[in-house]
Amino acid sequence: MAIPTREQILAAPKVLLHDHLDGGMRPQTVIDLAAEQGYGELPTMDPDELAAWFTRGADRRNLELYLETFAHTVGVTQTADALSRAAAEAAEDLAADGVVYAEVRFAPELHTEKGLVLDQVVEAVLAGFETGMVNAAEAGNPIQIGTLVTAMRTAARSSEIAALALKHRDAGVVGFDIAGAEAGFPPTRHLDAFQLIMRENFHITIHAGEAFGLPSIHEALQYCGAERLGHGVRIVDDITFGPDGEPILGRLAAYVRDRRIPLEMCPTSNVNTGAAQSLETHPIRMLKDLRFRVTVNTDNRLMSNVSMTDEFEKCCKAFNWDLADMQWLTVNAMKSSFWPFQERLDVINNIIKPGYAELMGTTG
Ligand SMILES: [Zn+2]
Repeated sequence: MAIPTREQILAAPKVLLHDHLDGGMRPQTVIDLAAEQGYGELPTMDPDELAAWFTRGADRRNLELYLETFAHTVGVTQTADALSRAAAEAAEDLAADGVVYAEVRFAPELHTEKGLVLDQVVEAVLAGFETGMVNAAEAGNPIQIGTLVTAMRTAARSSEIAALALKHRDAGVVGFDIAGAEAGFPPTRHLDAFQLIMRENFHITIHAGEAFGLPSIHEALQYCGAERLGHGVRIVDDITFGPDGEPILGRLAAYVRDRRIPLEMCPTSNVNTGAAQSLETHPIRMLKDLRFRVTVNTDNRLMSNVSMTDEFEKCCKAFNWDLADMQWLTVNAMKSSFWPFQERLDVINNIIKPGYAELMGTTG
């Protein structure tokens, strides 16, 4: 089949598992909040210039430099109203982009500089997502948002944050994650937090194999109970090719494929942080061809200047993917979400499959 048009990609139901709240704000909202709060640190008060500043700052081929740009989005989201607004707009923007289910993550410990306590941070974000979901449905683009609570791997509050995630699990939090600089901060540093989550039968995804290699992925899976890998792109270091081009998987790569461990891949972000050389050479193509459980994600829509539609459009062009490939990736993502089984099934059978059938001109 042909490479889909942008209109088809936009109309296609999409599922997003890896998106950061503080990486996906609208530039104008960052400016509005800065003005309201007397935050004087922004490099410009012009929304287009600010968007370009974020993208320039992020695209420096280094994860630590990429993360520097978050100072401003975090800086202006230190109140309940600001957090709720950012969350509501994230839901609305994703819905308008044709995303039907998204898991959006944020790190509560980064939003307490002006006196909010952790519970208030989570409650403000959950309330914002609720508002956004209602607004999106009214606009004709229904979306469901699951919230992931992230602990900073460079800090020492992960057990407290894991308990926080558990406390709000019946109000919309669907899992726990760690994020931040990866090199020097292995997942096992936070073993207590992960074991708490496991004991409570809750869900874990871990940023691993982005800025650091196989040991990080190994620890995430075999010590820390990760059910999914954030990025996981360095799993390719455990794959070689024989004389006839046949793939040879090392034990870890084989485990990841055999166990159907979902890879939350974020191609544009990986190019920005230097985890991949270019989009055209991104390992997502090879990993998909080898039938790893690959998913396509945005990571940080503001910093990487991408939407789900953009990311799929770039991948479809670079890798000759068609609508059937998009459906496979989307079903992969929905199967891998932390939502309950029945609800996942409902989205796959009643939204994703009919949506693609219509676009592909078949009756299902
Ligand atoms: Zn991420």
